[in-house]
Formats: sequence, C-alpha cells, structure tokens
Amino acid sequence: MEISTSLICPCNKKLYKSEQCLKAHRKTQSHQFWEKTNEQKDISIKINKLEIENGHLRRLNILLMERIQALENK
Ligand SMILES: [Zn+2]
Repeated sequence: MEISTSLICPCNKKLYKSEQCLKAHRKTQSHQFWEKTNEQKDISIKINKLEIENGHLRRLNILLMERIQALENK
C-alpha cells in the first residue's frame, strides 16, 4: 500500500491513518500553536525583507538628494 504524503502533518511529521484523523489533529492546541508560530515566522521574514528594502531606498534617496544638490550648486 502506498503511503499518502498528504496525511503527514508538517508540524510533527506524523502520519495519520485517515483524512479525519488529520483533521482532528489540526484542531488540537499543539497544532494550532505550531500554525501560529509558523505564521509569525513568515511575518518576521517579511518584515526583515521590507526593512532591508527600506534601507536600500533610504540610501538611494540620500544619493539622489546629493546629486540634486550638486546640480543645483553648479
Ligand atoms: Zn499538525
């Protein structure tokens, strides 16, 4: 018999006997907690990326302001 990977929950890597068992597990606190932590990880990764992008844009902005000033002073 082939083992369906869809019956494995990523939070604990456990294989569940049926779709119903997996669904029941997804309602448990341990799984819910894992889902929330996972979401928070995703969010902090996104925040980090945005902060890096923001830093690049700030530097670009300073550079452009300097160029404008240099042109105005000519
Ligand atoms: Zn789970």
